[in-house]
Formats: sequence, C-alpha cells, structure tokens
Amino acid sequence: IRALTFLVISCPCALVISIPLSFFGGIGGASSCGILVKGSNYLEALAETKYVVFDKTGTLTKGVFEVTKICPAGDMSREDLLEYAAYAESYSTHPISKSLKEAYGKEINKSLVTDVEEIGGHGVKAAVAAGNAKLMKSLGLSYAETTDIGTIVHVAVGGAYAGYVLISDVVKEQSKAAIAALKREGVKKTVMLTGDSRQVAEHVAAELGLDEVKSELLPADKVAAVEELLAGKEKRENLAFVGDGINDAPVLSRADIGVAMGALGSDAAIEAADIVLMDDNPWKLAQAMQISRKCLRIVYENIVFALTVKAVCLVLGAIGLASMWLAIFADVGVMVLAVLNAVRCLKVKQVKD
Ligand code: ADP
Ligand code: MG
Repeated sequence: IRALTFLVISCPCALVISIPLSFFGGIGGASSCGILVKGSNYLEALAETKYVVFDKTGTLTKGVFEVTKICPAGDMSREDLLEYAAYAESYSTHPISKSLKEAYGKEINKSLVTDVEEIGGHGVKAAVAAGNAKLMKSLGLSYAETTDIGTIVHVAVGGAYAGYVLISDVVKEQSKAAIAALKREGVKKTVMLTGDSRQVAEHVAAELGLDEVKSELLPADKVAAVEELLAGKEKRENLAFVGDGINDAPVLSRADIGVAMGALGSDAAIEAADIVLMDDNPWKLAQAMQISRKCLRIVYENIVFALTVKAVCLVLGAIGLASMWLAIFADVGVMVLAVLNAVRCLKVKQVKD
C-alpha cells in the first residue's frame, strides 16, 4: 500500500495537463482581442522581447496617402501627370499605388499597360516610370529637387522627366501609445526602418518618440539592419519585427518574432509572420506582450505549486505518513487546482484604444 500511495502521488498529470492548457488559454485570450499567435513558442518568446523594429508605411502610418500637390515639368498638364502615374501603378499593390489610383478616380484600362516591372524600394517601371529619387537616378534622369515634406513620386514618361506628385500619409492614432506601451512592457529599443525619404522618416520618428530611425532602405538593407541588431543583442533577449509585408517579408521571417498587419498586410506577410494583428493596430503588440507575461506567470505558478505539494507528499508517503486519500489529493486534487488556475489565461482585459 505504501508503494502504491507513492506511485499515485508521483503521477505528473497536473503538469502535463495544466501547462499546455495555459498556453492554449493564452492563445485563445489573445485571439479574442484580434491577435493571432501561431504557436505557444512565440507566446513564450514574446515575454522576453527587448527590441521592436517597425516598418513605416502601413505599420506605423495608415498607408492611405492623399495627393497634396501635383507638380508637372515642361508642358505636361496636371491631369495628364496623374493619369500617367495611375496607369504605371495599375498592377502594383503598394499603398502608394492604391492611393494614386484612388486620386485618379477613373477606370484604368489595364490592357494599355504592358511590361510592368515593380522594383522594391524604388517604384514601378513600364513605358512610364513612377517612383522615388532612387528610381530616377537608376534611370539616369535628372529630377526636380524639392523641400516639400511628404513622399514624392517622380514620374518619367517615355524616358523624359515629367514632374512629381507629392503625397502624404498620416500616422495611425494608436502608434504613439503603442511605442509608449511597449516601453512600459520593458522594451529597451524601438527602431523604425523605412524605404521612404529621410525627412519623412525623421518627422514620423520624432512624432512617435522612436529611439532610432533608418531611412531610404531597400528591402535587402532592411534585412542587413535587422541582422546588425540581432548581432548586438544578448541571447536571451528577443527581437520582434512589425511590418505589412510590402518590401519587408524577408525581415519578417528573419526576426525572432515576425508580426504582420492582418488587414492591410500582404498574404506573404501573414504567411511569413508568427503573430498577426488582425486590425492593424500596433498597440496590440504591447497587449500581446502583457498576455504572454501573464500566461508564463501562471505556468510557473502551476509548476511550483504542483512540484512542492508532490515533493512534500512523496516524503510523507515514503515514510508511511500519507494515506491513500492524501495521495489522491496530491494527484487529482492538484491537477484540478492547476487546471482552474490555467483557465485564468483565457481571461484578457478587453481594453478600448
Ligand atoms: P516602407 O519601408 O516605409 O514601408 P517601402 O519599402 O514599401 O516603404 O517603399 C519605399 C519607397 O519606395 C517608397 O517611399 C516610395 O518612394 C518607393 N516605392 C515603392 N513602391 C512604389 C510604387 N509602387 N510606386 C511608387 N513608389 C514606390
Ligand atoms: Mg511597408
């Protein structure tokens, strides 16, 4: 009977059942807030996140550009310039392209546009080229230098410079609160990587209170910048990259934790990411960190509780002081208590932003 009592107490079901249940609870709680976590390992990694790297367009800003100025060169009219830009952009899914098509407002006959090439971090190139200064340089064209604040889309028609369209994006309402909340959750450094111009990048970074900003990056430069940050951190610390997948899908899979925007983000990003924020709200990342911390705390509580009760009962059982009833408490009783504790992971405060 003493051996049997010992055997019953030593059954590990409290741990085996409550630990996965806590993680499932955490993942369930997160998904009820619109945060899709693709595995419990990512939930665990999130608790130790010390570096958060953001993309700009579509992640910290809305990615809905408004045309603020149309500046044609030579004898091009403003309407024609916008029309050329919209046609060149007809096949692109970049937020800039969507906005130009919207500003143009008329039906685009896509069959008129052939041989389009989209160059990440530059723009698009067909018979008409539309993109940033880098694209104009690579085409060997001179372009108008401006001091306007905003994203500038230069347009070249048939190899000749035709003017530029100035567009501006707005910062998401929750972005500033998101950066502050991440800092409160113990994030050491927030970085923004963008392919946009320096002026725009620095303007946004100052408004949001980011620690570091790198601008005018090509998709490959973003990977290099993240590699550099990964090399500089300690092993236990994790780096999360938050992006919309347009020109940043490679970084999403390179970072310890890739976070994608679910609504605006591309399918490639949602596929490559470990965590998806369904409503594109960057503030939800801080909430996800909170959930992961709570979840891990409950897991440790259960481990300590179950092992302590079992250790004491095993000693009592071995020296013949524990009855079979105590053994059953140490097994099933502890399991039920641990499971009840694990269920708390499901409860997440629904905070309005
Ligand atoms: P971010 O890193 O801010 O998300 P991207 O890497 O997507 O920005 O784009 C970087 C820059 O490349 C844009 O600011 C724009 O100047 C240019 N660009 C990229 N795609 C396009 C496009 N389809 N049309 C015009 N310009 C583009
Ligand atoms: Mg982007």
